Amino acid sequence: MADVVLKNVSKIYKGGVIGCKNINLSVSDREFCVIVGPSGCGKSTTLRLIAGLEEITEGELYIGGDLVNEIPPKDRDIAMVFQDYALYPHMTVEENMSFGLRLRKYPKDEIKRRVIEAARILEIEHLLSRRPKQLSGGQRQRVALGRAIVRKPKVFLFDEPLSNLDAKLRVQMRIEIKKLHSKLRTTMIYVTHDQVEAMTLGDKIVVMKDGLIQQIDDPLSIYEKPKTQFVAGFIGSPPMNFIRVKVEDKDDYILIKEIGDGFKIVIDRNTFSYLIPYSGKEITLGIRPEDIVDRIFSKIDTKENVVEAEVVAEEPMGSENIIHAKTKSSNLVIRTDGTNRVKMGDRLELLFKLDKLHFFDVDDGKRIE
Ligand code: ADP
Ligand code: MG
Repeated sequence: MADVVLKNVSKIYKGGVIGCKNINLSVSDREFCVIVGPSGCGKSTTLRLIAGLEEITEGELYIGGDLVNEIPPKDRDIAMVFQDYALYPHMTVEENMSFGLRLRKYPKDEIKRRVIEAARILEIEHLLSRRPKQLSGGQRQRVALGRAIVRKPKVFLFDEPLSNLDAKLRVQMRIEIKKLHSKLRTTMIYVTHDQVEAMTLGDKIVVMKDGLIQQIDDPLSIYEKPKTQFVAGFIGSPPMNFIRVKVEDKDDYILIKEIGDGFKIVIDRNTFSYLIPYSGKEITLGIRPEDIVDRIFSKIDTKENVVEAEVVAEEPMGSENIIHAKTKSSNLVIRTDGTNRVKMGDRLELLFKLDKLHFFDVDDGKRIE
């Protein structure tokens, strides 16, 4: 069992390419930490630094309180699971799982005990004598997990382990990995570009962009209080709507006006006092698709703060209906109940939930609050 701490860690590749920069991250013992972000943002680099597969350019890495910058990978007591399972094709499942232990000259009966225990946890006992090519993608991934488990490492590292699986199997294996974490009670650091995986797996989520950490928080805080417009747009599906608006401080209320002479919303001056310094300026208003309600469906009587929009498309999904609509100068996506059907060209009267508004600075993209 061990915690993992990165202090101001950077990786600069040859030629000056930034892998990751000034990473400050503390993963507690037994925590499930997910690093998420778009392709090329530095997730794998960060993970490979922890594993010792890349040399740290700057900063300090501690595992279980020990500085390990100079410790080779094999002595870090870490197991890593990759996207391509990297199983040996000529070995059986049992041989694949036991390979690392045999290499380390563990006693035979200890190896057998560990392999059987891991196989039981992963429900692959019946596959032990098969070879990788006789297995499905999901089964191969379980074997790769098994190979990591038998080592009983202090820390598990996962680099997009489910990316090669089809959508249904991915959801299934996601639950398996979550169960595995609660069974093993080990520190896990998991890299993915999939925000749903991040939200459902992580105790702690690290959002990265361009080699830098944008935010570290628990899933709900990330969702409800994204620190930047990037995080707000990256986490959540369909993504948050962004609308360019102008702020006007009217002394007893604040007026939010859509750019281009569009909708107007009156909000409470005390609640939103942090917007007062932006009076006369443009900012970005963010609102999630589920935080917009259609006045007709919601049976709300007020005509106040209505945002008029015209339907341009709908995506009926059964359980929910995703409506695309246009205001004067913006496109909106609205998530509503599956029974709330609309037609192209319908005029909607929308209401934004005022306690669910997000505001971002147009210059640096930072949350205003
Ligand atoms: P991610 O895993 O988030 O997709 P990576 O950590 O693989 O991102 O890459 C981060 C950045 O570092 C990218 O710009 C990538 O091109 C660069 N990079 C990754 N590995 C190397 C390498 N071995 N040599 C040079 N540049 C690299
Ligand atoms: Mg990667």
